[in-house]
Amino acid sequence: ISRIDLRGSAPAEAASGPANGVIDRDLLPRAELDVEAALAKVRPLCEDVHHRGTAAVLELTERFDGVRPEQLRVPAEALEKALAGLDPAVRAALEESIRRARIVHRDQRRTDSTVQVVPGGTVTERWVPVERVGLYVPGGRAVYPSSVVMNVVPAQEAGVGSLAVTSPPQAEFGGLPHPTILAACALLGVDEVYAAGGAQAIAMFAYGTAECAPAQLVTGPGNIYVAAAKRLLKGVIGIDSEAGPTEIAVLADDSADAAHVAADLISQAEHDVVAAAVLVTPSEALAEAVEAELETQVPATKHSERIAEALSGRQSGIVLVDSLEHGLAVVNAYAAEHLEIQTEDAARWAARVRNAGAVFVGPYAPVSLGDYAAGSNHVLPTGGCACHSSGLSVQSFLRGIHVVDYTRDALAEVTHHVVALAEAEDLPAHGAALKARFAWNVPENSK
Ligand code: NAD
Repeated sequence: ISRIDLRGSAPAEAASGPANGVIDRDLLPRAELDVEAALAKVRPLCEDVHHRGTAAVLELTERFDGVRPEQLRVPAEALEKALAGLDPAVRAALEESIRRARIVHRDQRRTDSTVQVVPGGTVTERWVPVERVGLYVPGGRAVYPSSVVMNVVPAQEAGVGSLAVTSPPQAEFGGLPHPTILAACALLGVDEVYAAGGAQAIAMFAYGTAECAPAQLVTGPGNIYVAAAKRLLKGVIGIDSEAGPTEIAVLADDSADAAHVAADLISQAEHDVVAAAVLVTPSEALAEAVEAELETQVPATKHSERIAEALSGRQSGIVLVDSLEHGLAVVNAYAAEHLEIQTEDAARWAARVRNAGAVFVGPYAPVSLGDYAAGSNHVLPTGGCACHSSGLSVQSFLRGIHVVDYTRDALAEVTHHVVALAEAEDLPAHGAALKARFAWNVPENSK
């Protein structure tokens, strides 16, 4: 893991100004292959699916996943069989994960609200679920039954009527998605599941194919190609955030346990060779201790090669800062998907974080807890998108519709203002539409 020394560059007003303004983001570790670069790769794939539908999805699946499923839609028997064969310990864990996620997401549900703007004039905000959504569950390097939970629970709690899940087919399971993913779908009562991954799966949901009706929204995490396809097709289909390759940033001081910090960095590097693991600290002693821990811990992990590649990539690093205040400005500018605060008085620092997908406070809230069983959602914005986007929630599946209801008197009272603004915009027909409702040019009582 490389070191980036920002000491001596702390801005005078460190964390108080807008994060983007005070820290040069180019100095921070970021992936070489960004979503913008991957766009060129996925554009022809998405166009192919648009024009040739199922045939294109199957061909691209064969090319990128090395297996051609018999059919894109997973048969109902395969879902039942996967649930019947699920390891009881994994089943119990999934059930607990679902239970906790439901507690959090049920609490996010919104109620319609009506406000009286003037006597006789009301605006109601109605929250209406998206009718049909496509949920992406990754399955290239690792399989993510947890992502089934994180996608499906908020969609169900939002009241979405039609839900379809897709996940890459696995050669070792005869071209079906991984059985644990199928079992998780069955546990949650999802029966429409497809064996497709990558950009072709996003395009399948956007344009629809003979088997799969188009969806209005696609959500879920994925690798750089999934994130790029979401960016490309946004507009054809709605998307949640760009939840691409995982990132962890840890803001830590001398009070942090180096072995725990290293273990947490490793846990996220395990996702992908392009995953980012960043430690931000004013403590050179901690930096050294974490480096030493990585040296011993990485070789002992199962996916040590993938982890070593992720940690040595330019998207990962140990950033040395002047102070925790300076570190806070750095993590706010970085806008990590996951941010751990392992400092004295962690809650106080956490309260000042402005840009992060999710914040994990203190020594007993590691990111892995949030990945599976905190109750929070693990589909979170990456690549700096946390400065403008949120993680997946019930809100992601709802649209707020304004319902405007005015009486004749309430309209009459405001007509002259509408006419004035319409004329200022040189759109006199706008004003005329109101005036036509009254006997006079401009209502008498509002002159
Ligand atoms: P994936 O399902 O996202 O991607 C696999 C698909 O990528 C394949 O089906 C294939 O079609 C496509 N693909 C592979 N190589 C390609 C190429 N060269 N060109 C075009 N398409 C190609 O699974 P994955 O690869 O294991 O990645 C999962 C990702 O999800 C990881 O990066 C992980 O960090 C991320 N993740 C993010 C979050 C989040 O909330 N941000 C949560 C969980 C996982």
